[in-house]
Amino acid sequence: TFRALLLTKEEGQAVHAEVTTLPVGDLPEGEVTVRVQASDLNYKDGLAVTGKLGIRTYPMVPGIDFAGTVLDSRDERYAVGDAVTLTGWGVGERHWGGYSELARVKADWLVRTPARFGAAEAMAVGTAGLTAMLCVMALEDAGLKPEAGDVLVTGAAGGVGSVAVSLLAARGYRVVTSTGRVEEEGGFLRGLGAAELLHRDELSALKKPLEKERWAAAVDVVGGETLAGVLASTKYGGHVAACGLAGGMQLPATVMPFILRGVTLHGVDSVQCPADKRQRAWDRLAAELPQALLDHGVQTAQLEDLPRLAGEILAGQVRGRTVITLE
Ligand code: NAP
Repeated sequence: TFRALLLTKEEGQAVHAEVTTLPVGDLPEGEVTVRVQASDLNYKDGLAVTGKLGIRTYPMVPGIDFAGTVLDSRDERYAVGDAVTLTGWGVGERHWGGYSELARVKADWLVRTPARFGAAEAMAVGTAGLTAMLCVMALEDAGLKPEAGDVLVTGAAGGVGSVAVSLLAARGYRVVTSTGRVEEEGGFLRGLGAAELLHRDELSALKKPLEKERWAAAVDVVGGETLAGVLASTKYGGHVAACGLAGGMQLPATVMPFILRGVTLHGVDSVQCPADKRQRAWDRLAAELPQALLDHGVQTAQLEDLPRLAGEILAGQVRGRTVITLE
């Protein structure tokens, strides 16, 4: 048997989340069985555990990420004892996920855990960290260099945001952060390398098609009026990487930043991100992620804490990254 957080739903009822013990025979199909040592908490996990993700089949074990060791493998790329990490691919949404002592998945979905990271550290990175790195890569592949000017990060005190601040500061960018928690999390953000703090209301208040040019680039996890304000205040020729909707999925913007300032909006997805790009991102995370992020940007919790934490992350109350330990 193994312990897992199980989501169940009766017809016409709310989703119920409970830690329970399941027989190994209940695991889904897959080539590789993993002893999960750690998982993590992402915004999407908050949606799943509170029944807001639109999961089609219950019962479901949520948890979009996990790291652990291979217990059994029918794929020649992986052997018993290998350290592996999984993020995305619909795991924890359509296929049983990481809030579980055991997981069974397709070999194609796994990456080798970089040698620098233990399972908990790989999960301190997780989908959020991978996404932050994919945003940095999108901006730099487009030619961004520190000399171009400030880089803005929105939702900075959250998971994706905090890793993005940390990665960009380490690469020599002057990082401006936007947060709704200037008072509470200002010290935390400065510790990660933020040079300047804005209150998030300043961005969502920018309503003109073109505002004063302020940043050479931005990483946006918020969407909505915030992303519209970010685009309107991006410098001529600048780049914006959009990966989130914590503030809404609408984009109440105009085309003016695109057609008069040559601003480029880059969409970033981590879930279906192809294996070669994923590997490049993990290699860079292993090489570049500042230790300060791992030391100060991470809290740990247990399976039992997830129903509470799910509500907190949706309410924007979770700082940085949360690792779920399963050992
Ligand atoms: P998170 O830890 O909750 O971070 C989100 C942050 O956004 C919050 O900490 C908060 O930061 C800010 N925020 C929350 N509600 C807001 C609101 N109503 N208006 C403005 N700002 C708000 O979540 P996460 O796991 O980092 O994910 C962030 C977003 O990225 C989510 O929308 C998630 O779905 C998306 N995401 C996308 C991908 C992808 O592959 N595209 C991957 C991972 C995540 P402050 O307190 O600092 O303001």
